[in-house]
Amino acid sequence: MRLVFLGPPGAGKGTQVKILSRILGLPSMSTGDVFRAEIASGSELGRLAQSYMERGELVPDDIVIKIVEKWLKERGVRNGFILDGYPRNVRQARELDELLKDLGVELTAAIYIDVPEDEIVRRLSGRLTCKSCGAVYHIAFNPPKEDLKCNLCGSELYQREDDREDVVRRRFHVYMENTRPVLDYYRKAGKLLIVNGLGGIEEVSERILKELRGRFAKFSDGSFRANG
Ligand code: AMP
Repeated sequence: MRLVFLGPPGAGKGTQVKILSRILGLPSMSTGDVFRAEIASGSELGRLAQSYMERGELVPDDIVIKIVEKWLKERGVRNGFILDGYPRNVRQARELDELLKDLGVELTAAIYIDVPEDEIVRRLSGRLTCKSCGAVYHIAFNPPKEDLKCNLCGSELYQREDDREDVVRRRFHVYMENTRPVLDYYRKAGKLLIVNGLGGIEEVSERILKELRGRFAKFSDGSFRANG
């Protein structure tokens, strides 16, 4: 299966992609993680990406597309993959289709994890991040054992600048503005699956698997074909 995951920040894409990647045995890639790793390594690409990421803006398409292309070509696309955080706009979606066409395959499905704005605000504005190791907590759902102290390393926890309620709402609207046309693009292609992202992590994974099973029958060799 060749899948892309869509959804606003805080929808749980990263978490679900990691789970599905393990269950389905597919390699996955998060463009956000690639940029964060480049920043940590101090590379030129990292410096460039950081200037956009700090402002909550998208990294220019040409840069992102090259990274995705390189990753897909290195991994090989025949046995399937999952992308997290790509595509973020229609140009990126088109470029992916072109690239896959050149490689002789097609995208299987685009999965949109649907979480309403108020829930996103509740999730992200209560998030606490460790200054030292980056571990993530939530004031209400996953509080640290000691007030504002990391359970793992004991360092101070803080609220990220972009997790403040006003910024979270802006990030949500920026995402929706860019992504709504991407949803239409995949809906027209008959590839869009919308999954309710409310509830527990396992509950959401089950919903995604159920949607995929409903739409695609599994061959004995582990590959999938569309039903009907
Ligand atoms: P994420 O971890 O997916 O929330 O991404 C963090 C940041 O990385 C985003 O706010 C963008 O600045 C950048 N980024 C990640 N994926 C893309 C993409 N497909 N296109 C443009 N920018 C991206």
